[in-house]
Amino acid sequence: MDGNVVLVTGAARGIGRGIARAFVEAGASVMLADLGPKADAWGYALSGETDLQNTAAELSAIGSVQSTHLDVTDPASCDAAVAATLQAFGRLDVLVNNAGVVQSGALEEFPEEHWDQVFAVNTKGLFLMSRAAVGALKQNAPSCIINTASIAGKQGYPNMSAYCGSKFAAIGITQSLAAELAPANVRVNAICPGMVGTAMWLEHLLPGASAGSNENNEAQFETMMQQTIPLGRPQTPEDMGAAALYLATAPNVTGVALSVAGGFEMQ
Ligand code: NAD
Repeated sequence: MDGNVVLVTGAARGIGRGIARAFVEAGASVMLADLGPKADAWGYALSGETDLQNTAAELSAIGSVQSTHLDVTDPASCDAAVAATLQAFGRLDVLVNNAGVVQSGALEEFPEEHWDQVFAVNTKGLFLMSRAAVGALKQNAPSCIINTASIAGKQGYPNMSAYCGSKFAAIGITQSLAAELAPANVRVNAICPGMVGTAMWLEHLLPGASAGSNENNEAQFETMMQQTIPLGRPQTPEDMGAAALYLATAPNVTGVALSVAGGFEMQ
């Protein structure tokens, strides 16, 4: 990836940080984009400025990294993140649309605002960021977009209608843009992570999860996933980094939604 420039959204922690690290280790220059001071209360805490700066410092020790603030629900902020990337590194080869949020709950009790927030980030955010970046990507073709969808974009799960709907849509957007942008030699693919022990799981989805008790949560998550995942372990941010690197360097692959789920999802 030497000489390539990658913009990763939701890069301050979790899967985004793992993907960013894989690209930096492979020699790319990486722009880390995340909410920074805009990380409002969300039912569980999203990444703030400290997470972004810590990740930037950690990855700067390995290679070429910069960071910028981004809210993928805000079109002007998406444009600004692409502009900051071009200003810092002069080009854009890979856009990784990874920022995402989850809300779960029974239909009768599920607030409409949660539905709107999940779709604003996970679905409309893909559109806004891709639209902001497509000019630079076309200019630099061959280039690509990688969307972090989910196994929840291929199979419905109880109490997850907003999240599953938003991720099915992410796969639909991936396929549509793959067809639309193929003539311009811009490839568009998705990664479908299985179960990764990030804040999304440990502070939110895990039964009894709570912020601040990650050690217990992690042990419970690990045991649960050993019993659930055919390959016997949960997925890791490193697994997602390896998948992103593969998709970024596979010149004839476009429109796929690649499950990285240890065999838990096989379609
Ligand atoms: P995470 O909560 O650790 O990371 C999500 C990141 O996105 C955070 O840094 C957060 O600040 C950022 N973000 C949220 N809203 C944003 C916005 N409006 N603008 C910019 N950044 C924003 O969770 P994660 O597990 O690392 O999730 C990363 C992606 O992977 C998400 O799209 C998620 O849906 C998907 N995913 C996760 C799992 C899993 O098991 N953890 C499984 C399948 C898919």
